[in-house]
Amino acid sequence: MPKPNSICVYCGSSDQGPDSHRQAAQDLGETLARNKIRLVYGGGQIGLMGATADAALANGGEVIGIIPQFLKDLEVGHAGCTELIVTDTMHERKRKMVELSDAFAILPGGLGTLDETFEILTWRQLRLHDKPIILVNIDDYWSPLLALIENQINENYVRAEHRRLYEVVDRVEDILPAITRSPVSEELVMSDRL
Ligand code: AMP
Repeated sequence: MPKPNSICVYCGSSDQGPDSHRQAAQDLGETLARNKIRLVYGGGQIGLMGATADAALANGGEVIGIIPQFLKDLEVGHAGCTELIVTDTMHERKRKMVELSDAFAILPGGLGTLDETFEILTWRQLRLHDKPIILVNIDDYWSPLLALIENQINENYVRAEHRRLYEVVDRVEDILPAITRSPVSEELVMSDRL
């Protein structure tokens, strides 16, 4: 696909992870800004989410945060976003994040990140969208998850070709090349069913 206009980043709201994770979040925010790619994310000011947004903004990037009203206080809605969209529900938030993005990058995170990751993976499996999904395996953080998926394939719960739903990269600088390498989908995608 050509260079994306916007990338959705899913990542943790925690500040307590290793420094390498925070560094990756900052590097990704900076990379997006320098490449004039809009960051779409969950709108929080904390954790890797906040670190990504801060780095994008500090480098002149455009940042769209999408946060439900009830989380705005809990996760501290980022006041510096170019645009902060406040939704009524979590579902509306997640749908909007997908609609406004051309591709997805997944950094380390917790249960919320897993929820978002599996939602876009399964939506792609169901052909509700066909946007590239890049799992950023910083310091092997996602390797246990990848092993679980391999186990699901071995036990015939996941089809082997569904490995193609996502691409794994080890470094932030490999994200954009992985996205632009992805073929443009020519198949019917039923985005109206999201
Ligand atoms: P976490 O990875 O748990 O730190 O969460 C990262 C982001 O995912 C936060 O903005 C959460 O609000 C969000 N999130 C999305 N879906 C969910 C969900 N079903 N449960 C918890 N958090 C979620």
